[in-house]
Amino acid sequence: MYQRREITTQERLQQEQYCQRVRALIAHRPHYALVDTYGCQQNESDSEILRGWLVQCGYELTGSEEKADLIAVNTCAVREHAEKRVLGNVGALAHNKAKNPELLVCVGGCMTQQETMRERIRRSYRVVDLVFGPHELWQFPQLLLETMERRGRRGAKSRLIAAAPSEGVVAEGLPRQRDNQVKAWLSIMNGCDNFCSYCIVPYVRGRERSRRPEDVLAEARELIRLGYKDITLLGQNVNSYGKGLEEDTDFPALLAALDAIPGDYVLRFMTSHPKDATEKLFRVMAESEHCAHHIHLPLQSGSDRILRQMNRRYDRAGYLEKVAAARAAMPDLVLTTDIIVGFPGETEADFADTLSLVEQVGYDAMFTFIYSPRTGTPAAAMPDPVSRAEKQVWFDRLVQTANRISAEKHAAYVGRTVRVLVDGATGQEPYDLSSRTKGGRLVHLAGDPALVGQFLDVKITDSTTWALYGQIE
Ligand code: SF4
Repeated sequence: MYQRREITTQERLQQEQYCQRVRALIAHRPHYALVDTYGCQQNESDSEILRGWLVQCGYELTGSEEKADLIAVNTCAVREHAEKRVLGNVGALAHNKAKNPELLVCVGGCMTQQETMRERIRRSYRVVDLVFGPHELWQFPQLLLETMERRGRRGAKSRLIAAAPSEGVVAEGLPRQRDNQVKAWLSIMNGCDNFCSYCIVPYVRGRERSRRPEDVLAEARELIRLGYKDITLLGQNVNSYGKGLEEDTDFPALLAALDAIPGDYVLRFMTSHPKDATEKLFRVMAESEHCAHHIHLPLQSGSDRILRQMNRRYDRAGYLEKVAAARAAMPDLVLTTDIIVGFPGETEADFADTLSLVEQVGYDAMFTFIYSPRTGTPAAAMPDPVSRAEKQVWFDRLVQTANRISAEKHAAYVGRTVRVLVDGATGQEPYDLSSRTKGGRLVHLAGDPALVGQFLDVKITDSTTWALYGQIE
């Protein structure tokens, strides 16, 4: 049974004391740490906390495996082939350890929340010193200290395999080392209650729990004060924000409260489950000063039969109604989506339904995947008679359609003047700046790197399937 477990200030302060003890152990010379992140934005956000802890523990951050005294791998469990890649990379760290026996290898993230995976690491990846789960991020300093103290012991006692199931954790005030000065992640909730039949997330990230609105607002105010210009609210399903909180609130209310913070910034969010996207949300977005008119609304399939098999809890007609309502509220809406091709039992007719819906909606961009089974999910046990080769043919047709539509959408920008936020210097002539429209479209520009972090009016001069090209006005 899920129980919300709020980490107390005292518990957090105790972790800072563990940081002091780790600091003392490594004080004799500079120590370097590298954090390697796989998977989604939530994981990138978690890695910022991991780096925050490591800095508090006295480590300097590095991008070099050779230089690192500690390598932390923040893993993703969404796709099986990604897990294999992670394990391959972790196994290869044995070479680094042979050269530097003091190297500490820590593996965290969603993969470790699966018991079979922990066992596999325990048995076959002796290079790993510490395994910790996503729910234990708040107590990483304690786990790290214990791992250090275990070194030199014999056999199983020399390593720490944690990742205990404690899925209701909500932790505030953790240190964070952000890796960008313009864009910031702002996690508003964790976990998922939806149990889509192909997805492992609810099993590894636990049940949905929201941060309190006052904590989210305080973090947003601080980000704006620090000069961040592009803030993305994160959650597996942001549209069900607020469930289980004492306060009577919801995602549109949170968005409206965030929008009221003064400043020149853009608010984005991801991801939205279509079943929970409401007209109230579209209205708040339309009326908001800061919110990007962009929704990432994962469709997954255009076939009602497959949507039922996926346990998505909306149908084609309902999805199209939401799209129409969102576009009525925001005529300039940028709409993006995710689609899975070749779900177990999918037929040519089901795929044709997906293709026709894609044509009907006309997405600005699509993220397309061939279904890959996840052990432990209901879909992995469903009969799947269609060959990989056939799925690949469907996939290629879908990608062709997606690319054609994206190219058409992008071409329609040419000649227009749009406001963009310059978010990076690429160093690649002639377009040495990257920027985004409020709707999230990538615009390449020529200009001074000092413009990074500024909003500019830009005339769009050219376009491709993937990006726009512009001139500063
Ligand atoms: S909404 Fe569905 S796909 Fe998204 S995280 Fe939850 S279970 Fe997974």
